[in-house]
Amino acid sequence: MTSLRVADVVRSSYVDGPGHRYALFLQGCTFNCPGCHNPHTIAPRSPDARDVPVAEIVADVAEVAPFLTGITVSGGEATLQWEAVHALFEALALDPATSRLTRLVDTNGDAEAGVWSVLATSMHGAMVDLKALDPHVHRVLTGRTNDRVLRSIRDLAARRRLDEVRLLVVPGVNDTADQIDATGRWLASIDPVPPVVAQGFRHHGTRLRARAWAEATTRDLERVADGLAAYGLDVRRRSLPEVAVAV
Ligand code: SF4
Repeated sequence: MTSLRVADVVRSSYVDGPGHRYALFLQGCTFNCPGCHNPHTIAPRSPDARDVPVAEIVADVAEVAPFLTGITVSGGEATLQWEAVHALFEALALDPATSRLTRLVDTNGDAEAGVWSVLATSMHGAMVDLKALDPHVHRVLTGRTNDRVLRSIRDLAARRRLDEVRLLVVPGVNDTADQIDATGRWLASIDPVPPVVAQGFRHHGTRLRARAWAEATTRDLERVADGLAAYGLDVRRRSLPEVAVAV
């Protein structure tokens, strides 16, 4: 029986994608971001995580389905368990109680194209984090380079499965004028151009050197959003209280 290793379940969320969503947070991540708001989900295993059969998750979603817009599978990094996520999405699509729900993945984008080619057949879309376009800055923010992230963004757009790209604004780290210009130019070259969300870094839950980074102010977000909008991008600002609970 296919199971997912689940770190947390939120049966009613308004901050994990559009509308009212069931949010499933999976255990394990390919990155190790000092600024992670849920660092307990990074390790592949945790005493607090549990393996939950797909059928059990579908039954739980079905209980609250009349009140939901959709389900979001997040993390950790959802694509580390992509085969089980695909099985879950297929089961949700087949169950009359859950079939109308939109099925989204919230991802750091660090996955191979083969993963997306399968998930694209069962999910409606993906929300992808772009921590930094510059690979060196990306390594500072995540511990890893970003080549797979950039490929994922292009690939998902081409498959019409890219719901949004989210930029985490960390003042003084990834928001210099040069970086914002380069990021705006690169995002504007994606076909089709995705909606972009600028969201501000907060200290909530963070560790290590991230404790010394400044939190983003409304003015920081406006500056970054205006810089990106200069490239014709549709940029939304995510309010700071929402950011405190987002992955
Ligand atoms: S912020 Fe996201 S990508 Fe980074 S370690 Fe946490 S769950 Fe992984």
